[in-house]
Amino acid sequence: MDAFFAEGERVGVLTTQPLDRVLDYRAPEGGCFVGAFVEVPLGPRKVLGVVWGPGQGGFDAAKIRPVIRVLDAAPMREEMRLFLEKAGAYTLTPLPAMLRLATRAPGLGDPPSMRKVYRRGEGEPARMTDARRRVLDAAEEMGGLALTLKELAEAAGVTSSVVKGLLPGGAIVEEESPRDTPFPRLDPELGGKDLTEDQAAAVEVLREGQRAGRYGTVLLKGVTGSGKTEVYLEAVAEALRQGRQALVLLPEIALSAEFLTRLAARFGGRPAEWHSGVTMTERRRVWKMVAEGQAQVVVGARSALFLPFRSLGLIVVDEEHDTSYKQEDGVLYNARDMAVLRASILGAQVVLASATPSLESWANAEAGKYQRLELVSRFGPAVLPEMRAIDMRREDLPAARWISPSLRKAVVARLERGEQALLFLNRRGYAPVTLCRACGQQIGCDHCDARMVEHRFLKRLVCHQCGESRPIPTVCPHCEAEDKLAPVGPGVERLAEEATALFPEARVAVLSSDLYGTARELKAQIEAIAAGGADIIIGTQLVAKGHNFPNLTLVGVIDADLGLQGSDLRAAERTFQLMRQVAGRAGRAEKPGQALLQTYQPEHPVIRAILGGDEEAFWAAEAEERRAAGMPPYGRLAGVILSGEDMPQVFDLGNWLARNDAPLRQVGAQVLGPAPAPIARVRGRHRVRLLVKAPKGVALQGAIGAWLAPVRLKGDLRLAVDIDPQSF
Ligand code: ADP
Ligand code: ZN
Repeated sequence: MDAFFAEGERVGVLTTQPLDRVLDYRAPEGGCFVGAFVEVPLGPRKVLGVVWGPGQGGFDAAKIRPVIRVLDAAPMREEMRLFLEKAGAYTLTPLPAMLRLATRAPGLGDPPSMRKVYRRGEGEPARMTDARRRVLDAAEEMGGLALTLKELAEAAGVTSSVVKGLLPGGAIVEEESPRDTPFPRLDPELGGKDLTEDQAAAVEVLREGQRAGRYGTVLLKGVTGSGKTEVYLEAVAEALRQGRQALVLLPEIALSAEFLTRLAARFGGRPAEWHSGVTMTERRRVWKMVAEGQAQVVVGARSALFLPFRSLGLIVVDEEHDTSYKQEDGVLYNARDMAVLRASILGAQVVLASATPSLESWANAEAGKYQRLELVSRFGPAVLPEMRAIDMRREDLPAARWISPSLRKAVVARLERGEQALLFLNRRGYAPVTLCRACGQQIGCDHCDARMVEHRFLKRLVCHQCGESRPIPTVCPHCEAEDKLAPVGPGVERLAEEATALFPEARVAVLSSDLYGTARELKAQIEAIAAGGADIIIGTQLVAKGHNFPNLTLVGVIDADLGLQGSDLRAAERTFQLMRQVAGRAGRAEKPGQALLQTYQPEHPVIRAILGGDEEAFWAAEAEERRAAGMPPYGRLAGVILSGEDMPQVFDLGNWLARNDAPLRQVGAQVLGPAPAPIARVRGRHRVRLLVKAPKGVALQGAIGAWLAPVRLKGDLRLAVDIDPQSF
């Protein structure tokens, strides 16, 4: 039983305000439980808080103010409080900032807002028409369930005035009902498929885990199209049978329409959604229903991990290697790792699904920390695409052209058969560089250490770092020469131009996140393409993420070497994952697919591994390299990013930290830097990074905490700690 505090007793309340401690208050009239959401006075303001435990004492007893009121919301569970504390300790984030992640429900604790709903009444209309009949039928079909005016009119295929015309006779009645309605009950037995032997074996392991009701992480590996989703949906079904909730995290939530439909077909109802595109009213509903157990399955982005589940039994992290699981501003956390943390506190199961796991998860499976399940072949007649390199050193290609004759031939063959081809280039915009042919200077962002990228579609130069944009100039900003600015290199828009010229009969569509204002527009475009609305698709990495184009049989990678440049130790891993994933888009239905990789270095070990060399050997070699360098996952790493407008001041602090590193050396950790951060200037602020490197097993957070404790940030200086940074 949770602790209860009687009226007047001292309680410690954690607020979302940036204070470094829990504050003492007096329990209000009627008392309160630990975990209760409360409103408390803070200076002249009223702020949101959670009763975190008994009061700390040490304050002047007479000055302690009472809690204003207990909010009408399910108290935060002990498991959640523990999760926030541990996640905060791991990421070195103060608790108030963690609490903010867990209270992103607008109108938390407010009385439910109402809306008008419509259902079948006792009366009959004076005059019956076809349209009216359809409305009554639609209302009857819904049984007791009330619909909004718009929903009912849509279900009947009539305008809302037809529905309103039925009100006077009482055939349809109007009522007020709370907006926060429960989600439909899901049925785990509804739409299961007959599983292949491989799939069935994997499902059996997951089911056993669910029935045991203990923490355990499973790495579910399988080529795209092998049925990983089918398999983890069975784990979801088992969680439902056990009366527990399930959370499915997806990396690119905008592309989840297909997934939601699939889930609805399997369980007979749409799950709750949680991501940045969800409206405020809907968020409030989801938050509440999740807390009350009335939303059984949630499909969401990483922030869904902080929802107040009443009884969570399963977390699926789909495409677990995806870099978008790392939150890169505010609280820096990796949702995959936090999913494992939350599940281990809860006693829940985690399924990490991927065709190309992260080296971290691969190593955890090797070490026996995760259980590994593998699906080896694609489902049904679909086979893996044949992968080949196009050796660009042998291709005859004029300057400023990127589609080689070999690739062109392959595209033509697809067009003749009425199939689709995808040309993949991971570069948004028209050209990555704009160069002045008079002075040789490139146009850069005024505020960032980044080039301005030409977006011809928007008719602007855009900084991909800070979003700053300006019209495309005709005069060089450096030497003022006129009409000397030239685009250099390809972006998807420029590639589309080339494709249109090469294949004038084909319909060319570009899929790039910046060409669509809203997730809805993007979704619509993807659906149109899947339905055959384009012959050639030109896309950035957006297309790599799990969408099904059944008629797509060719993937041409324009620049397979792109990701291999640079000094990032993860470059090989990333390129391998991305190329495999993109290639996996081809041949997902009956028609066999082919992937062609344009490369200047076909002998490169990474390119060879991508082309279907020995995958395990590739991972083992990568792992060996990391082990030798003491880098993750075989060593520990943390970044400390310092930023400010005055570069010498930022470096001074960096140097001071590098010199005063005793707390780190004591535990065997070492500081590298300060050096310019991977993005050295953003929005006019200079960024400097120190890397802390330590052997595995070192209590790194404690040492970093002690090391940073004496820092007092002056002026506009900022400091952020990034545990397990993405790039190193
Ligand atoms: P993955 O998640 O590994 O990419 P999916 O689960 O999406 O694979 O499966 C690929 C396609 O094959 C989907 O259309 C899916 O419905 C179908 N499929 C997979 N397994 C089965 C099965 N046992 N019975 C029927 N269809 C299946
Ligand atoms: Zn910029």
